[in-house]
Amino acid sequence: MSEPSTPEPGRPGAQAGPVAFLGLGHMGGPMAINLVKAGYTVTGFDVVPAALETARAHGIATADTAAEAVAGAAVVLTMLPSGKHLLDAYRGTPGQPGQSGLLATAAPGTLFLDCSTINVDEAREAAELAVAAGHRAVDAPVSGGVVGAEAGTLTFMVGALPEDFEAVRPMLEVMGKRVVHCGEHGAGQAAKICNNMILGVSMIAVSEAFVLGEKLGLTHQALFDVASAASGQCWALTTNCPVPGPVPTSPANRDYQPGFAGALMAKDLKLALNALQSTGVAARLGPLASEIYDSFAAEGGAGRDFSGIITDIRDRSAH
Ligand code: NAD
Repeated sequence: MSEPSTPEPGRPGAQAGPVAFLGLGHMGGPMAINLVKAGYTVTGFDVVPAALETARAHGIATADTAAEAVAGAAVVLTMLPSGKHLLDAYRGTPGQPGQSGLLATAAPGTLFLDCSTINVDEAREAAELAVAAGHRAVDAPVSGGVVGAEAGTLTFMVGALPEDFEAVRPMLEVMGKRVVHCGEHGAGQAAKICNNMILGVSMIAVSEAFVLGEKLGLTHQALFDVASAASGQCWALTTNCPVPGPVPTSPANRDYQPGFAGALMAKDLKLALNALQSTGVAARLGPLASEIYDSFAAEGGAGRDFSGIITDIRDRSAH
């Protein structure tokens, strides 16, 4: 284990207790770096040795096991690929010596802060398990991508009891520029998937409109100039415009390099679909968007920006 740095008095993290940071991937790595820069005492852990090496190269102290990272932590922050990874880590692997879960390992009253994007039901289950084990739980998924994680400009959508929200707010404000308390356990995940369902559906709608405009002889700029100042206005059009030209910073101008990758949109729409099914909402467009982005991701779009869906629509319209 490498030693965590001692916080300097006067910096935001100096008042806070030690943080165990589990999951040092594309998002978690830069988020942990920002906490260290703000003076937090951070011990990182990841199951992939290369992620630990990168973290150490950026000044993050690391542990050899999750249990070692969690020992003595006041906050256990997780940034993992899925709800299964989270629940397995919380519970541990039954029957395997030395594999007891984080909830059993942590000191009573530890604050478990999960920033991964997972199912709402899994977030609620994770919080129930944490509370039943004598801990505190917060779900705080993010938007803003790797660029936002590096720049410390993420948006956090938070599900927590009011006092736990206030406890994590200063930390989240180090890693993000907007922190919204959405309600109690699971509400952060709920807000995230509802927002991304709007985004997935609206990107498909904007892309279909541009391809229809092409067929009708409209220039991209003419449709943009009208729709961006009319009732078709939305983020998918005015910030992440799926055609090159009207918004020079949109991924369409760099051959759909992400941005927000198709695989992540497909994942988030699957989480929305699960929530639509478990709540019995009679949605049509959400499930259809999930199906459309599943195919997009499976057929070469996983690593492209999700606005690249327009090329699929155009290809299927060529006859
Ligand atoms: P990633 O795969 O790069 O990182 C996840 C890390 O978790 C990996 O390094 C993996 O080795 C590690 N891990 C897995 N199981 C572990 C365990 N038991 N203990 C410790 N580490 C473990 O993924 P990412 O892009 O950083 O995304 C993380 C989460 O953030 C996901 O839920 C994703 O949906 C969400 N998210 C990602 C983005 C983005 O743009 N990448 C944007 C918003 C939200």
